[in-house]
Amino acid sequence: MSEPSPRDESLDPEAWEAFRASAHGALDTMIDHLAGLRGKPVWQAPPEETRAHFRKALPRSGEDFDAVLDTFRADILPYGSGNTHPLFMGWVQGAGTPVGMVADMLAAGINANCGGRDHIALDVERQIVLWMAELFGFPRDASGLFLTGSSQANFCALIVARRAALEGIRRDGLVRAPQLVAYTSSEAHSCIVQAMELSGIGSAHLRLVPVDGARAMRVGALDAMIEQDRAAGLLPFLVVGTAGTVNTGAIDDLTGIADLCAAKKLWFHVDGALGALAALSPDVAPGLRGLERADSIAFDFHKWTHVPYDAGFLLVRDPKAHKAAFANPAAYLQREPEGLAAGETWPVDLGPDLSRSFRALKTWFTFKVHGAEKLGGAISRTCGLARNLAAQIVASQDFVLAAPVRLNIVCFRPAGRNADLVRDIVMDLHTTGSAAPSVTQLDGAPVIRAAILNHRTTSADIDTFLEAVRASMARVEVRNRVEG
Ligand SMILES: *Cc1c(COP(=O)(O)O)cnc(C)c1O
Repeated sequence: MSEPSPRDESLDPEAWEAFRASAHGALDTMIDHLAGLRGKPVWQAPPEETRAHFRKALPRSGEDFDAVLDTFRADILPYGSGNTHPLFMGWVQGAGTPVGMVADMLAAGINANCGGRDHIALDVERQIVLWMAELFGFPRDASGLFLTGSSQANFCALIVARRAALEGIRRDGLVRAPQLVAYTSSEAHSCIVQAMELSGIGSAHLRLVPVDGARAMRVGALDAMIEQDRAAGLLPFLVVGTAGTVNTGAIDDLTGIADLCAAKKLWFHVDGALGALAALSPDVAPGLRGLERADSIAFDFHKWTHVPYDAGFLLVRDPKAHKAAFANPAAYLQREPEGLAAGETWPVDLGPDLSRSFRALKTWFTFKVHGAEKLGGAISRTCGLARNLAAQIVASQDFVLAAPVRLNIVCFRPAGRNADLVRDIVMDLHTTGSAAPSVTQLDGAPVIRAAILNHRTTSADIDTFLEAVRASMARVEVRNRVEG
C-alpha cells in the first residue's frame, strides 16, 4: 500500500473545476429561490418524513457535494421560517438581501477570526463603528462591536454600565457591593430582564417603570422610583430606554431620560434593536431625538437593514469605559508593536467572545451597495405601509386597532365577539401559508401583530394580507360552528 498523498488528506476538492460547477449551481439555486419567493407559501411545516432525515447516525464516510446539495434543495430550502417572504410580518425579523447573502459567502471564504490581531477585517469592523458614530451623533472615538444580536448587546451594555458604577466589580463580585438597581419601562424587551439575571444583579432589582398612553416610559415616575431607591440606600446605576418597543414600536422620551440620567449621574442605555437604525429615515429620525445623548446603544443590522443573520451591534460613547469592562491581560493574547499580533484594542477587549466571525463584511456590503439613503427609504416605506394598514383597519367594520402606530407595527383584533379568535386566526394564516403575522398580548388580551419590516412588502401585499386575515376568520368561524 502506498502512503496517502497530501492531496488525499486535505479537505479541498479533488477537482477544482468540478467543484466550481457545483458551487455555481448552489448559487443559482439560491438566486432562483429569492427571485421566486412571492409565488411560494410564506411558511409550511416540514413533513414528518423530512424531519426524520435529520435523526440519522453520524455519517462515517462522506457523500458527493452534489448529492448533499440535492438533499438541501429537497429537505431544507422549502421549509424556512418564512421571514424572507413579503407576507411575513411576525415578531421583528429582517428579510435578508441577495447582496448580504453573497457577502456572507465571501466572509466565509476569507474565514477571518475577528477576535483580534492585525488584519483588514478589523478595519472593516472599525469602519462600521465610525459609520454608526456618525449616524447617531456619537464622538468619532466611540467604541463598537458586533455581537449575535441585541439580546447580547443589551447584556454587554449592562456589564459596561455595571463596571462604570463599581470599579472593583470584576475582582470583588457583587457580594459586598452596594445593591445595584436598574430601570426600564414595563414595555421593555424580555432580554433586559434576562441581562439582569445573567449579570447576577437579579431581576428583582430591575424596576419596570409604568408607561403612558403612547406606551412610552413615564419619566416622572422614573424620577420618583430612583429617589425612593436612593433613600432606601440602594445604588441606582442604569436606565434602559427603548427606541421601538417590540410590542407596538413605541419610542421612549429619550431626551427626557437623557436629562434625568445627566442630572442623577446614571448610565443611559438605549435598546434600539428595532428602532435605532430608523435614524436612516428622514421621516422617523426626528422621533429619535435624544439618542445622540445615550451612553450606549444596542441595535440589530439584521432587522430593519436586512443584513443576513446574525448582526447585532453595541455602540459605546466612552471607549475607556467599554474596554475597562472586558479587557483581559492574557499572555496568549499579548500585543506586539508589529506583525500579526499588533494593534492596541482588539474586539476581544470589548466583549465576551474571542473567536468571532466577520459580520462586518455583510454589513459593509449592504451599506456600500444600497447606500444609507435607500436603506432609510425602505424604512420610511414600511412605516407608510403600516399607516396604510392601520387606516384600513380603522375604516373597517370587522377589525379594531389595538394600539397607536408609531413606527411599523400594527396591533389589531377582530371586532365584537370575534376578538376571542385571534390565536385561531393567526394559526390558520400560518398553516395555510397565506401570511405570517404573530400574536402578542396588550393589556392582558391577545392581538394580531403585524410588523411591516420587509423591503419586499408592497401596498398590494397589505391588501392581500387583510384579505387573507378575513378568509382565515371566515374559516375559523365555520370550524367553530361545526365543532360547537
Ligand atoms: C429583537 C429585539 C431584541 C432582541 O434582539 P435579538 O437580536 O433578537 O437578540 C431586543 N429588544 C428589542 C426592542 C427587539 O426588538
